[in-house]
Amino acid sequence: MKKVIITSLLTILLLTSCTTQRSQHVEVPSVYYEIFVASFYDSDGDGMGDLEGVRQKLDYIQHDLGATGIWLMPIHPSPTYHKYDVLDYEDIDKDYGTMEDFERLVEEMNERDMDLIIDFVLNHSSSKHPWFLKALDAYENDQCDVVEECEFYNFETRNPGGYHKVNDNLYYEGGFWSEMPDLNLHNETVRNNLLESAKFWLDKGVKGFRLDATTHFFDDSHEDNIAFLNWFNTEVKNYKEDAYIIGEAWSGQSIIEDMYRSEIDSFFNFANAQNSGNIVKDMQKQKGLTLAKRIEQQQNNIKAKNEHGIDAPFLSNHDNNRSAGYLVNLEDQKLAASIYLLLPGNPFIYYGEEVAMKGSGIDENKRLPMLWDKETSKGYTKPPQDATYTQDDQISVKNALKNKDSLLNHYKHVISIRNSYPDIARGAFEALDLGDESLFASRQNNIIVVHNLSDDAKLVEIDADKIVSVHGDYKNKKGTITLEPKSSILIEERQ
Ligand code: CA
Repeated sequence: MKKVIITSLLTILLLTSCTTQRSQHVEVPSVYYEIFVASFYDSDGDGMGDLEGVRQKLDYIQHDLGATGIWLMPIHPSPTYHKYDVLDYEDIDKDYGTMEDFERLVEEMNERDMDLIIDFVLNHSSSKHPWFLKALDAYENDQCDVVEECEFYNFETRNPGGYHKVNDNLYYEGGFWSEMPDLNLHNETVRNNLLESAKFWLDKGVKGFRLDATTHFFDDSHEDNIAFLNWFNTEVKNYKEDAYIIGEAWSGQSIIEDMYRSEIDSFFNFANAQNSGNIVKDMQKQKGLTLAKRIEQQQNNIKAKNEHGIDAPFLSNHDNNRSAGYLVNLEDQKLAASIYLLLPGNPFIYYGEEVAMKGSGIDENKRLPMLWDKETSKGYTKPPQDATYTQDDQISVKNALKNKDSLLNHYKHVISIRNSYPDIARGAFEALDLGDESLFASRQNNIIVVHNLSDDAKLVEIDADKIVSVHGDYKNKKGTITLEPKSSILIEERQ
């Protein structure tokens, strides 16, 4: 095996200040686990995943994986399987259980010191939501002068393009689907109603919200989107100071970064995610230095817009092809996990990613039943109705738990390292040039992370006080560390 000697000596500057931790907004770093409740764990044998099932799997999430927070995809009453079209913002869908089930879940999570955030879909409601039905009725009966719901949505008498038709004189905006009419978020009553619903869930004990589709709130105005988010953030934080709010802005990187001006805590980092994102792309091209520099630039851009901004790295979510489909071998799956789980911010793991579940194409295929134990049907959910993908029956959580080299145990190991070194989540990030493009290296205070993306062993010269293996082998001889191909280490730098 070819060995490349890296001769560049790192000049180690003693960091005179370690006080980069924030004095206000002190936030316990979290690793979040995203759950599609319907496909996670069925507690009562009806084939539908439920909130009680999530509660029964808290040990798995907290101890077998190590996540400290959960993001539940929508749990409100809804006519669809995915529930992104809400009928009632202050109730639980009967498929998932009862309000008591929810309260039991959030109570147990709080006892365990775990954070729960829920999906909050503000851009649109269901077309069956009472507000929309009342508005339609009022328009039909010419009562809009006394029915305020007429102003809750964006109705027009002529189609301005892309609107859905009620009749020849009435059209409405529904950017995603005719059954998802866009709410008029300029309307003060709508805003206040939604805010009251947010407070309702905060009172129940949730940590905060994942806000769906934030770039679509006002499709024609980036500034209005930011202003709305800023209003929502201010109101929520006034109510619960340590609430956590993360937005989905599935958009270009510069738009996402600029939206940090809204002061909500986080946005998902789409630029680095998915098959086409920086992590996988640079990993496959073995461009570690390039990736580290990108991350540093992104961190600087985020902090310039909001000094308290928290990046949210992820590989895949419920809208993306599952990562095990393009990270086709275990080593690549482990390396991608090592990279994104050791980045600054709050990482988000999509349920099943940790056992290399697959699924791509139509959305239903990306949201398949969690594979717990192939030897028993206990807890298994039915797949979404239109799913076409057949899952690999070799994969299961039970098998993964038993195998010390499994992807799941790797996730657990990396998360435990992350949780042991808070600087990884919150320290100022600096890309390190070790003189080799294939090495990703970063410093956060006195913590250095190095990933060797190449197929060759590499030598790294760092005066290490302590070295922790993230994955793979290394040798440390007189300040020269030999890092095996596709291996990762964490170094505590000698100060
Ligand atoms: Ca059930």
